[in-house]
Amino acid sequence: MLGSTNTLENLGGSLKLIVVLGHSGCGALTPAVDVFLHPREYLPLATKRPLRSILDGVLVVVQTSERKLIATFGPTVVHRPRYRKALIETSIADAALAAYSIQEELRTNAYTGIEAAYGVYLL
Ligand SMILES: [Zn+2]
Repeated sequence: MLGSTNTLENLGGSLKLIVVLGHSGCGALTPAVDVFLHPREYLPLATKRPLRSILDGVLVVVQTSERKLIATFGPTVVHRPRYRKALIETSIADAALAAYSIQEELRTNAYTGIEAAYGVYLL
């Protein structure tokens, strides 16, 4: 989701490409997965407002990723030993796929000449 159409207009036509790059070892998604899996342990984070706002946005991605894993592998997937790692990796790929939504929004709002691309960088 783009902040607003004004954001694009303010760039004065110089913007040609939006790239969303997910990456392994992500310092945002990894703690978000841990918060998602163990919410009680991370309650103190809730009082840190800047961190909280980042986490809230990323948690939506983690939740979506969990739904996909359960839909694909069944509800017992959450008990598998490497589930945390799988959830992190799926979340990274899903975050990168946000570029698809951006591309659709550009198309819907008839922004021509701006492309969106995504990728996953494995460190
Ligand atoms: Zn990151």
